[in-house]
Amino acid sequence: MTGVADRSDVGVTQADTGAVAVVPDEHAPLTPDWTCGTCGAQWPCESKRDQLLSEYVTDRAMLSVYLGACLAAAAEDLHLSGSTSLQDRFLGWLPRRPRRF
Ligand SMILES: [Zn+2]
Repeated sequence: MTGVADRSDVGVTQADTGAVAVVPDEHAPLTPDWTCGTCGAQWPCESKRDQLLSEYVTDRAMLSVYLGACLAAAAEDLHLSGSTSLQDRFLGWLPRRPRRF
């Protein structure tokens, strides 16, 4: 017995729509209110939008799929099913054309 406790940090990221762990600067949504866990704005907040755009810069279709899933979950949580303002909030900010470099 050595008495030495080895602490290993496991980097687990929760890429789920029902994010539970709030990481600083992650701008993850807090459910069921769908506010930003970092800055408190309506999710997706401006910082999160920037993050998402750079994260999915090569795969804009996946971003739409992801946001669509978030929208569906939020509509259920907020009881705003089919709300156009909610659709606007989740998808309306997306640039129409992917930027080309
Ligand atoms: Zn935020």
